[in-house]
Amino acid sequence: MPILVMKFGGTSVATPDRIRRAAKRVGREVANGYDVIVIVSAMAGETNKMVGLVDEISPFYDAREYDAVVSSGENVTAGLMALTLQEMDIPARSWQGWQVPLKTTSAHGAARIEEIPTDNINAKFAEGMQVAVVAGFQGISPEGRITTLGRGGSDTTAVAFAAAFGAERCDIYTDVDGVYTTDPRISAKARKLDRIAFEEMLELASLGAKVLQTRSVELAMRYNVRLRVLSSFEDNNETAGTLVCAEEDIVESNVVSGVAYSRDEAKMTLISVADRPGIAAAIFGPLAEAGVNVDMIVQNISDDGRTDMTFSCPVDQVKRAEKAMLGAKEKGDINFHELVADTDVCKVSVVGIGMRSHAGVASKMFDSLAAEGINIKVITTSEIKISVLIDRKYLELAVQALHDAFELEKAA
Ligand code: ADP
Ligand code: ASP
Ligand code: MG
Repeated sequence: MPILVMKFGGTSVATPDRIRRAAKRVGREVANGYDVIVIVSAMAGETNKMVGLVDEISPFYDAREYDAVVSSGENVTAGLMALTLQEMDIPARSWQGWQVPLKTTSAHGAARIEEIPTDNINAKFAEGMQVAVVAGFQGISPEGRITTLGRGGSDTTAVAFAAAFGAERCDIYTDVDGVYTTDPRISAKARKLDRIAFEEMLELASLGAKVLQTRSVELAMRYNVRLRVLSSFEDNNETAGTLVCAEEDIVESNVVSGVAYSRDEAKMTLISVADRPGIAAAIFGPLAEAGVNVDMIVQNISDDGRTDMTFSCPVDQVKRAEKAMLGAKEKGDINFHELVADTDVCKVSVVGIGMRSHAGVASKMFDSLAAEGINIKVITTSEIKISVLIDRKYLELAVQALHDAFELEKAA
């Protein structure tokens, strides 16, 4: 039998009614002749709640115990989904990550999938089971500890299963009916894209568009998985949603295809550090060791052998970053006068493969932000994206202004 992977996100399994609705969709695909692998997220809000509990009990937590706690939401939905399917007389059972076993690295909180053996689940399909329900987001490390794949990781579980089982398609059911030119919750003018290139989706995801986890797009690109994003609340036909596909399969696209944002950023500046060889390594080494995900980096022109070093990181990592920097200062590895944290910033980015061949995107972006009176604090660019750090209070305004400036409401 051909295999289909269907992933249901948190809002799609938030209540027993919604689980039933999702199960009905699964039932239709079973009736269409598929063996189905269902990947489920935790019920909406559950993972956040558990992250909050961990933070409350242990701010600099042991990541292995963090994973033990936050992975548990998916166990509940996997069991409930299997029960719902059984109530519908569809032979189904649940698997937790370790039971598959979905083997990962031991990078707790952000583990990478290493291997998904298929024999266990395939043997059950051969015995007549029609649906394997797998808890997303979680796996097992070489040391035998429970791991998680980073926030939004169920998307990655889904694509990895699709690749491992040679599934015909990987359908990601969520609370929007596809990938939009920007978050439809921020701009009413956001337009749904029928198709988006892997590379653009990769950038949008890594720049904050939550709709797919970055790693899931990477895997789909590498293993050529047919990846579709669609609504779990609407009726979908064959061409519903957004297909994430190779650049060659897209006929026409705008120079800029989307605007992404990341709301909870922080800008940290080390004031007056010695400008000498090895200083960047002495700063960013300890930050990496402390698990701080440094994003943008700017070093000022030095004055009298001293300089300011600015970097950005997620706002919830500021405490870790401060601890790492003060620790390095105490050890004498670095020397700075002051560490200033600006925790009220966000990052807004424009993305498009058309930028490779079109000049003027940056100036248009800066002009439109200036016209709104928005000050840019840090800028970074790559071949197909431009990102700026700005005050968080301007997030919505900036996204909407850029969406207008690049006329994203209109198709190419
Ligand atoms: P799930 O729980 O199903 O995994 P997520 O909340 O992780 O859902 O992702 C879906 C959300 O992503 C949408 O509700 C939407 O607000 C947000 N989003 C951000 N950028 C985009 C975009 N460009 N297109 C569609 N949705 C987006
Ligand atoms: N429940 C996890 C999270 O909220 C994984 C996921 O939903 O994809 O991050
Ligand atoms: Mg998600």
